[in-house]
Amino acid sequence: MPVGSTWHRPSHTPGNGIHGTETVDDFFSGQAAALAGGTTMHIDFVIPVNGSLSAGFDSYAKKTRNSVMDYGFHMAITKWDEAVSKEMELMVKEKGINSFKFFMAYKGSLMISDELLLQGLEKCKSLGALAMVHAENGDAVAEGQRKMIDLGITGPEGHALSRPPLLEGEATARAIRLAKFVNTPLYVVHVMSIDAMEEIANAKKSGQRVIGEPVVSGLILDDSWLWDPDFTTAAKYVMSPPIRKAGHDKALQAALSSGVLQLVGTDHCTFNSTQKAFGIDDFRKIPNGVNGIEERMHLIWDLMVETGRISVTDYVRITSTECARIFNIYPRKGAILAGSDADIIVLNPNSTFEISAASHHSRSDTNVYDGRKGKGKVEITISQGRVVWQDGVLRAERGSGRYIEMPPLVISSMVWGKPTRTISLLFELLSGALNLRCKVLESLRLSQSDVQQR
Ligand SMILES: [Zn+2]
Repeated sequence: MPVGSTWHRPSHTPGNGIHGTETVDDFFSGQAAALAGGTTMHIDFVIPVNGSLSAGFDSYAKKTRNSVMDYGFHMAITKWDEAVSKEMELMVKEKGINSFKFFMAYKGSLMISDELLLQGLEKCKSLGALAMVHAENGDAVAEGQRKMIDLGITGPEGHALSRPPLLEGEATARAIRLAKFVNTPLYVVHVMSIDAMEEIANAKKSGQRVIGEPVVSGLILDDSWLWDPDFTTAAKYVMSPPIRKAGHDKALQAALSSGVLQLVGTDHCTFNSTQKAFGIDDFRKIPNGVNGIEERMHLIWDLMVETGRISVTDYVRITSTECARIFNIYPRKGAILAGSDADIIVLNPNSTFEISAASHHSRSDTNVYDGRKGKGKVEITISQGRVVWQDGVLRAERGSGRYIEMPPLVISSMVWGKPTRTISLLFELLSGALNLRCKVLESLRLSQSDVQQR
């Protein structure tokens, strides 16, 4: 079964400055893992250097020398002044970036205020760029962390306890409303909880253009690992927003199959156990991030298609096509068509996979999916017309990756500003359909209320 495969979201965030330590995967190892897992393009997050977007862009461009597959960039916005505003324009018009990420968490480093978020949203709208948010209430997270430390809870479980789902729900709701106020689309990255997902579902129901992206870890894992008495085991599951209690995963799966959530990212951001051990006495110092780029296609097939939750066509859409469309590189990517890039995979639904830290291509010494088995294995990956993965052998060529420029989007202010009669009617029909979806979600949530109350 051939599948054109693009995906989006960071394979790695080298030197991301959030935790003062570099991820173990670079463009070579992260992309090698991607190719072995049937992903042929990734979009990485560029973090500005001392607030300078150009300096950030240049420093990331240098890191791509050993890239082995195509890639693009999102850019984070971490402060606001006239220079940043001008540089956003430069990034869109000359550097091929059409999306910017705003961190509502990481107080004291990357977090931005509502005022900056508003200005950023306005700027994105005027440039035809997509605004993305890391949605957690950073002030409340800092307060939650302080409480945990005061209580003497310093282990990895403190990570989950200090930033509960409601803080993700609150920030998601706030970002959605601010985007509505500005009248521009919003992309919510790594949706990890029912709370955030329901805010997205409600916004969509009202006709607002909000894109919700779950990641592999949120769809598959639950937070029980964070309570493992062995620090090394527990720490490898630390990421933000945190992996949630069992029940959130099932709800996110349902939202993905019903279209409330649109595509699957990975947030692949790997640190080895030595780096994770920086936080052995204080969970706030554990570098945040889990693997997923090599596992994504396998695990999502097994979880969603093998179980009958979605069709094969849906699988292609959520792992590839949707991403290419959203970031305006369709049909060059995300399709097998004359004129499209020859990025194709062959996935055998009858062959089985087993995930192991000993055999994966990431440089990390751990794997959050270690020991997992399932059906649906990527047997061949073709990138830029070359077979780069076959029979378990990787033939990645250093320096062969190309930077894919992503053109600005068309952001029409009419769509939910002043709807015409036809559009209103369309919305009514749409809301009807979404209402139905939400009912399904609601009943699902009811059945999970016991889980949530724990
Ligand atoms: Zn994030």
